[in-house]
Amino acid sequence: MDCPWCDFAGTPRELHAHLGEAHPERVRFEERGSSRFYGIDCPICDEGYEHIVKPRSRDPGFMEEFQREIRLVAFDMLVNHMLGEHSEYATEGAEGDGAGAVPEGPA
Ligand SMILES: [Zn+2]
Ligand SMILES: [Zn+2]
Repeated sequence: MDCPWCDFAGTPRELHAHLGEAHPERVRFEERGSSRFYGIDCPICDEGYEHIVKPRSRDPGFMEEFQREIRLVAFDMLVNHMLGEHSEYATEGAEGDGAGAVPEGPA
C-alpha cells in the first residue's frame, strides 16, 4: 500500500506501523464540553471518522499511553478505509524485500 502523505510503500501491516511512527499528528484529539473525541480524516476523499474516548483516568502519563493506543486504532480504521475505498493505493508491489522503493523527502 502507498502512504497517502509520503512516498512510503509497504504491506497494510507495514503501512499501519509507518503511520503511527511518521504521521501521528494526523489523528486529532478534541475536547468538547466534558467529552473527548478522536478522529482521523482520509486525505484522499476527506471522509472523516470520529469516535468518543472514555479515558479511565486523567493522569497525564495515562493519557499519553492512551493516545498512543488510540492512534493505532485510528490508523487501523484509515488502512481499512483505504483498502475498501481507495484500492488504487492498495498496491501489492511493495511486498517482500522492498526492492525498487526509493525513499524521498525528509527522512
Ligand atoms: Zn508516510
Ligand atoms: Zn477516503
